[in-house]
Amino acid sequence: MITKLYKITDELCEESNLAGKEKLEADNQPSKELAAIGSSAGKEKLVGNILRCETTLQNGGAGLSCDDMLAEAGRIIRDGGLVAFPTETVYGLGGNALDETAAARIYAAKGRPSDNPLIAHIASMEELPRIVKYIPESAYKIAEKYWPGPITMIFEKSDIVPYGTTGGLDTVAVRMPSHPIAKALIKAAGVPVAAPSANVSGRPSPTKAAHVIEDLSGKIDAIIDGGQVDIGLESTIIDLTGEYPTILRPGYVSREMLEELVGRVDMDPALDGPPDNNIRPKAPGMMYRHYAPKGELTIVEGSNDNVVAYINGRLELLEDNEAETKVGIITTIENAPYFSKGKVVCVGTREDDDTVARQIYGALRQMDEYNVEVIYVESFREGPLGEAIMNRLNKAAGYRVVRV
Ligand code: AMP
Ligand code: MG
Repeated sequence: MITKLYKITDELCEESNLAGKEKLEADNQPSKELAAIGSSAGKEKLVGNILRCETTLQNGGAGLSCDDMLAEAGRIIRDGGLVAFPTETVYGLGGNALDETAAARIYAAKGRPSDNPLIAHIASMEELPRIVKYIPESAYKIAEKYWPGPITMIFEKSDIVPYGTTGGLDTVAVRMPSHPIAKALIKAAGVPVAAPSANVSGRPSPTKAAHVIEDLSGKIDAIIDGGQVDIGLESTIIDLTGEYPTILRPGYVSREMLEELVGRVDMDPALDGPPDNNIRPKAPGMMYRHYAPKGELTIVEGSNDNVVAYINGRLELLEDNEAETKVGIITTIENAPYFSKGKVVCVGTREDDDTVARQIYGALRQMDEYNVEVIYVESFREGPLGEAIMNRLNKAAGYRVVRV
């Protein structure tokens, strides 16, 4: 299968006199002004099984307009095909959430276990009553404050949502993303869009189009390249079907932020630690090994000095050549200068958890590229995103933590 790649870059946005994607959102007419992608009339280049559709806007505007491009991508989804697209959290792999066959294609492309339900993405509040049975008061409060944005809510599903989308559950997860391309694509599709992260199941989630290409080229119909995502971690998931709202996956919107709105919020007990046969996570996906690089990942937790000393101590035990090629270190600006061996990847400063979140999945993927066998990563408990970052790292590391 040939996968079509549509590219939307910031420079192109500037070319079309847009200050950036934010402006587009304000105009609420993203597709009109967003720089366009040439398709049939533009330059097309086949590289492997990717058909790169290069824009010709700079040379006088030949090719598809952005409206046309999004309409085409929307049509692919409406007709049962799959399109990967950027959201503010990670890249999603979109298909028609109301079409069981499309859902089955998503599972097949990702190699995802079919009991791991998909999140349905909508572009406006009007779409919600169609797909859920009942909207609790708390959902309106959360939606008013955080939608569009990085939080997913779980409701009882309506009859039009097939079990093929919900992994056989009577509930459905719903999110309204804020990324302008995601919003425009969902509108163009005209249906709720089921979109799990656009990676092969088990691998780190994709935070840029290159990651999606790596995992899914040749397996899906199209990819929209909208550059690096903003947040870099998947949405918070909150279940509204029980007595108290319950967080099933931590994300950018924290428990404290939610408690301010709706009072008591519980955490799913399964979030506390390693898999336990007696505590089954309420989000089936949280059961699976996730986000993992190929090498064996260990979290090293302690003061900067102790972390550096521990990792250097491990490096000393190896032959120079081995330390250089087989060990990866995911670290920060504060500590990076003190490692003289190994493949070192820096995810920003310890002072800024936003940057760490944005870069952590890319760093895990970089380790796969280096083909290292052993990986050490610093721990990032501090800061508002600490809980979400550590949830993903713990899973990626199979809860292997060394305290030093
Ligand atoms: P992903 O789309 O890859 O970010 O994964 C979606 C996550 O949402 C998985 O962990 C799913 O188990 C979870 N999820 C989706 N629908 C439901 C649902 N109806 N009930 C509980 N968890 C859900
Ligand atoms: Mg995922």
